[in-house]
Amino acid sequence: MRSPSQDAGPDPEAAAELLQMGQGIMASWALHVAARLGVADLLAPGPQMIDDLALTTGAHSGALYRVLRFLGMLGVFTEVEPRRFSLTPLGDCLRTGKAGSLRSWFIMSGPIYRVFADAPLDSVLTGKPAFEKVLGASFFEYAARDLEWGEAFNSAMEGVGRQTAGAVVQAYDFSGIGRIVDVGGGHGTLLAAVLDAYPEMTGILFDLPRVAEGAADKIAKAGLAGRCEIVGGDFFESVPSGGDAYVLSWVIHDWEDERALSILQNCRRAIGDSGRLLLVEANIPVGNEPHFAKTVDMVMLVALGGQERTEAEYSDLMAAAGFKLSRVVATASPMTVFEGAPVGSQVGSRSA
Ligand code: SAH
Repeated sequence: MRSPSQDAGPDPEAAAELLQMGQGIMASWALHVAARLGVADLLAPGPQMIDDLALTTGAHSGALYRVLRFLGMLGVFTEVEPRRFSLTPLGDCLRTGKAGSLRSWFIMSGPIYRVFADAPLDSVLTGKPAFEKVLGASFFEYAARDLEWGEAFNSAMEGVGRQTAGAVVQAYDFSGIGRIVDVGGGHGTLLAAVLDAYPEMTGILFDLPRVAEGAADKIAKAGLAGRCEIVGGDFFESVPSGGDAYVLSWVIHDWEDERALSILQNCRRAIGDSGRLLLVEANIPVGNEPHFAKTVDMVMLVALGGQERTEAEYSDLMAAAGFKLSRVVATASPMTVFEGAPVGSQVGSRSA
């Protein structure tokens, strides 16, 4: 007997939905193009004719029209009258310099899209990131090699960080911490938000020397230079000692277990027995529940070799590094704070 689905062929609605889903790569590409050309900035003062946009961006007018028409369908721009486009709230997120701007996110994503397209099966067959195979360097080496891209990555993190830092500060009680160390702190978005909310607190921003250098300016502009030390280094070697709390935001997810463990062990070496470890990461839900982190996890798989983790997985990782998961604090953003308390005695000190 043949099953009904064989008789009827695929459900047309299901097929249409699947085809639509498969167009995601075009949306990614079009957003990358719009971000690179700075279309949102040009539309910020008001609607523009496509010929003017093409002239300013150096694009082919007919081609740019088709890309914006496509993005219009997705709600990023609106064709207010024939060949004249304006900004929507979605498109507004692509504007440069706006707090929480996603323009750098979509510029930074360009090489990542290449890895998905050029080596689609690699990571799935090997479990290893294909980034190096496609781009000739691992993710953070590439950021060091192509400084413009590295800068776009840091700005992308800053943009997204702006959206989550407030929620983290609101949800987690940082009081009682005298000195906080932000390990892999990037441009210091989270650290600045914490120091701003706790005027008595001092901080250390720790990242790769090149990134830490870039953060100094941001910290100074936030008026926090007097309370925040900037330290460059490698968290696989050591992390600065002397903090009451060590916060790692969107750091552990970049690495597979062994590398992640090595970072956490270095934190364990640096931390006092009454210190706190704070992992700011997504708490990836099991099952089919949607979560932004399930998408980010694809980038971890293909580009970085890291992974998004469940609460149980963070708990295991912490335990292996000498921490007990003491609290899990959800925030209004996709990020959760996993608080760890040191257990046992410090493993031999390698930190300065
Ligand atoms: N904490 C920031 C940035 C997260 S991105 C935020 O939440 O937005 C990960 C950070 O790890 C980057 O800033 C990157 O420069 C840093 N990083 C990568 N490898 C590192 C290393 N070996 N030592 C120190 N920092 C490193």
